[in-house]
Amino acid sequence: MISIHNEPQPTDLGDVRVANRAVVLRHVRLHAPCSRADIAATTGLNKATVSSLVTELLDRRLVRETGLTGNRVGRPATMLVLDGSPYAALGLQIGADDLVVVAVDPGGNRLLTWRRAFPAPTAGPADTVRALVTLARRAIGRVTGQGRTVLGLTVGVPGLVDTAGGVPLASGLGWRDVPLAADLRTALRETGFTVTVDTDANLAVLAEQRHGAYAGATDLVHVTGGVSVGAGVLAGGRLLRGGRGHAGELGHLCLDPAGPPCPCGRRGCLAASTALPAVVARLLPDATQDGPVTDYLPELDRIVASARQEDPAVLAGLAEIGRHLGHGASILANLLNPEAIVVGGHFATLAPWLLPAARAELVARTLAPQAGGCRLDASTLDSAAPALGGATAALATIEAGRLPAG
Ligand SMILES: [Zn+2]
Repeated sequence: MISIHNEPQPTDLGDVRVANRAVVLRHVRLHAPCSRADIAATTGLNKATVSSLVTELLDRRLVRETGLTGNRVGRPATMLVLDGSPYAALGLQIGADDLVVVAVDPGGNRLLTWRRAFPAPTAGPADTVRALVTLARRAIGRVTGQGRTVLGLTVGVPGLVDTAGGVPLASGLGWRDVPLAADLRTALRETGFTVTVDTDANLAVLAEQRHGAYAGATDLVHVTGGVSVGAGVLAGGRLLRGGRGHAGELGHLCLDPAGPPCPCGRRGCLAASTALPAVVARLLPDATQDGPVTDYLPELDRIVASARQEDPAVLAGLAEIGRHLGHGASILANLLNPEAIVVGGHFATLAPWLLPAARAELVARTLAPQAGGCRLDASTLDSAAPALGGATAALATIEAGRLPAG
């Protein structure tokens, strides 16, 4: 189980009940369909407690009954599964050329995924907040129109995010000191639900842990590919945030002091050679002739087409970018020894040409044999992983055992 916030320590009976509710919900999420007796037997909670908690969860429609099963010793039992159909949680992400919103329900069902073309790197923070709010309102309108209550909304940003949800620096967007969470709350007005901001990488690894190819892994890294390159790190099942929330800035590791300039003002950062704008500039020198790229999809399509036609310059460029990516991955492997590093965004799109070189570099630069068992793979989630993770994160209070208001 992932703890994205400090877990409450039970101090009174109310807190104990919250903690027990979380245990029951988690059991149903992982083992549904299951009976009350199954829950009691596995969790060690007594049957009366389980029965009372389940009654409450049925009342709030966080679980539902699916009928009887007689396929066990003893009398038939009523089976339980997650419900959550009266609720929705939203996640949004700010991409290189789009904004994405995803809604999920507490049962893990994806309710909607909407993209809107939007050039955040050239638009600036004020217009980006307006566009985010417009997109969020449309999604809120859709799910509330289905009779659902919104539980929370989390926005993923490619940059540094502080504990108040502010963005001290997002160099790929050209942002500095943007009070994003506060601005969003002001613009959305009285929402009745929590509005939070996190790094896109942290949210993406939450999505991986719940929905990706390595779901359930406790030591896992998601490396985002977009205007920036960030690492969301799960270590021992917990999200690694660091003292002020700024862990995971993989993109600004200096790989070569004499390397190209980075938007952060330094030289030779991993992002300076592997972030999406750098990749397009490296492989398609004509792409920026008429100004900054505002729509990357056609450019990525051109790169894929050239690679498929085995254009030697493009293949050599992709192999070089792959080696840089593998170098960055080896630093993660040496420091963290994860089970897997999964790459998203344009790294996933270009994986067939990047990953062979990246894997060789990872193994060559990691001290432990075979990179310490670390796999390097493309994410199997679509490029909405941060938004999906944002929606997942917005369910955290329910999963921690707090009942929704009402
Ligand atoms: Zn940098």
